Amino acid sequence: MGIGQGKMDPMENPSKWRRRLGSMGGKNPVAALKRLVETGEVFEGELALPYAEDATPGMGGQTPLAVVRPARREEVAAVLAFCNQEGIGVVPRGAGTNLSGGVATGPGDVVLAMNGLKRLLEIDEANLTATVEPGLVTAELHRAAEARGLWYPPDPGSMAVSTIGGNVAEGAGGLRGLKYGVTRDYIMGMEVVGAGGEVVRLGGKTVKNVSGYDLLRLMVGSEGTLGVITEVTVRLIPAPEARRALLGVFPTVEAAARAVARVIADRVVPATLELLDSLTMRAVEEYSHCGLPVTAAAILLAEVDGMAEAVAREAERVKAAFKAEGAEEIRIARDDAERDQIWTARRAAVSALARIRPTIMLEDATVPRSRVPEMVRAVEEISRRRDLPIGTFGHAGDGNLHPTILTNRRNQDEMRRAEAAVGEIFSAALELGGTLTGEHGIGLAKRGFMKAQFGEVGLGLLRRVKQALDPRGILNPGKVIPPESLVNRG
Ligand SMILES: Cc1cc2nc3c(=O)[nH]c(=O)nc-3n(C[C@H](O)[C@H](O)[C@H](O)COP(=O)(O)OP(=O)(O)OC[C@H]3O[C@@H](n4cnc5c(N)ncnc54)[C@H](O)[C@@H]3O)c2cc1C
Repeated sequence: MGIGQGKMDPMENPSKWRRRLGSMGGKNPVAALKRLVETGEVFEGELALPYAEDATPGMGGQTPLAVVRPARREEVAAVLAFCNQEGIGVVPRGAGTNLSGGVATGPGDVVLAMNGLKRLLEIDEANLTATVEPGLVTAELHRAAEARGLWYPPDPGSMAVSTIGGNVAEGAGGLRGLKYGVTRDYIMGMEVVGAGGEVVRLGGKTVKNVSGYDLLRLMVGSEGTLGVITEVTVRLIPAPEARRALLGVFPTVEAAARAVARVIADRVVPATLELLDSLTMRAVEEYSHCGLPVTAAAILLAEVDGMAEAVAREAERVKAAFKAEGAEEIRIARDDAERDQIWTARRAAVSALARIRPTIMLEDATVPRSRVPEMVRAVEEISRRRDLPIGTFGHAGDGNLHPTILTNRRNQDEMRRAEAAVGEIFSAALELGGTLTGEHGIGLAKRGFMKAQFGEVGLGLLRRVKQALDPRGILNPGKVIPPESLVNRG
């Protein structure tokens, strides 16, 4: 029985889980792994400890049995075949920047650190594709494409460190989702190693491909629970000729949220349309001193791009929409330096909020964009009722907000209220026709709420997919699909 198919949960029942790993008792699995991985690295003990957790506060796992960093794909296949045979959990890992406890390790797990496979294999200008190994840092792909006048649009806020493999497995989004879509929309092909070490190629370089079931899409966002990605072919597009960024200052968060809807209703689709509420903005200004209007209730940051003349026209239309919803001030970046300053400030939001209180709980419940004003009101009401500061920022144009609860893990009463608030935020999003997560994934953090979104039937389907692809439940154990003990939490 695989993880998520029964009551056993490696995170909650470590001793039971260890007994399940009985077949490796008596052997020395780490020595065996070292023999399998000749060109890569294998390490354990204190050196392995930092690999137990990721960027999710409070989601630390347990020291892994070993960390394996393959340098060749054959080593990935060999490690999986061995671990599958021995019943050892394998946690694929990129840069560990995910925000859903996606790479937290259970007892006895092996971490498969994929950042040793990081070559950019090809940029194919005739087919407008790039083929890379999964450990390549996202920003490096951006730079390589831009050097040829091309673009890889997905741009998660963490792209300076996150990896393409992590982006694909998490189904990452970013700031340009509104006009350009998200990682999922750029994946054309993949090489995947299955739980038993079998290698399969999915998709390729063709624009059209409808052969068989769409396993490529199944892998995107599968969070390391269905296979390990060893190569990715992504779609590139010509880089836009011109870009212009605008900043609108609003008297209320609701006015800013209404302005988002108005921009779109006026038939302008900016590349980026981001909201920062007053709490987030003040935190960012204190952190980065970039001249944000700290007395305002909310700001919207927008970027339009495309042909130069169209960009000038669209910037005027965004400005008009902002004004119509009561913007008190509108700034247009005069040059690239000012534009970069705006986006650097936005990308600093998580780090800036994390300086205010010891613990942050960052959510990414997502609603249809027309319901953003209602979602903003719901979060404000939850913040008041639970007496908790919640900074709201995020990709308002995508309906993907990041309400961030500022709290302190040591204060039990506050944590109880914070956890209740998280549940209420998810419920509000689902009631508004939304989803638990727009881009950060389920991991460990949100698995307890999966039934609220999928229901019994939907969860049953997810379990059967997992069972078919990973019958022994070795791939990223305990993630995404809740054990029965958690199913009724949502
Ligand atoms: C400051 C900050 C800002 C962020 N901004 C954004 C944002 O704007 N948009 C967004 O979507 N996310 C954002 N994130 C979250 C995070 O960066 C993304 O989820 C990212 O895709 C994780 O990439 P990673 O390389 O760090 O992967 P990891 O965190 O190491 O892993 C993520 C998941 O992918 C799996 N995985 C990794 N590599 C492989 C592989 N080769 N094969 C199979 N599975 C694999 C792991 O098992 C795990 O489930 C942000 C995080 C931080 C800290």
